[in-house]
Amino acid sequence: MLSLAKFESREETFDLTAVDIAEVVSLCLERHDRQARQEQVGLQTEGPDGPVYVLADHEGLQQILDNLIDNAIKYSSPGDQVEVRWNARDQMLVVEISDNGIGIAEEDQDRVFERFYRVDKARSREKGGTGLGLAIVKHLVNACQGEIELKSVLGEGTTFTVRLPLARVPEQVVSSLKSTE
Ligand code: ATP
Ligand code: MG
Repeated sequence: MLSLAKFESREETFDLTAVDIAEVVSLCLERHDRQARQEQVGLQTEGPDGPVYVLADHEGLQQILDNLIDNAIKYSSPGDQVEVRWNARDQMLVVEISDNGIGIAEEDQDRVFERFYRVDKARSREKGGTGLGLAIVKHLVNACQGEIELKSVLGEGTTFTVRLPLARVPEQVVSSLKSTE
């Protein structure tokens, strides 16, 4: 869990650079591999073949995806699937984190981004939630000049969509980035 203090101190060191989204997704999924196995939730990805560079703070982007993936696994049931998809569209990176878990009722959908808001307090407490994850995610997305929205149907599942500006990486920078890997 991210503490509020850590989250607030992060603002001081927010550094927007060109970040390869596929790399960040795979780091985040690796970190959630054990949790997903324990909960018997499948993890899948779908992205384009070539690299897509997003303009973001590297650690901030990991925190965004870590929180959304953690939620997707936590609020699912054994046998469910979590999928992370990304693509470039209209100068923006579009990342979708979707699950076919418990879903969020319409009346709660606007409120889940509020600090300490948890839909089902009993269930959330059992899962160790504090209700801070999505407030932090929203803050970090805004700090990267991005947007976040959700679509959900109670009992069917949830998709969070994050849009962030693409980095304008010149061809030469891309090849030098590749050669230093
Ligand atoms: P924390 O992230 O601080 O450990 P949390 O997961 O309870 O705690 P948030 O991530 O802010 O807090 O999410 C707020 C609430 O929104 C959750 O308690 C849960 O009720 C609901 N929620 C979030 N993501 C999902 C999801 N993918 N499916 C169903 N409900 C969700
Ligand atoms: Mg959470």
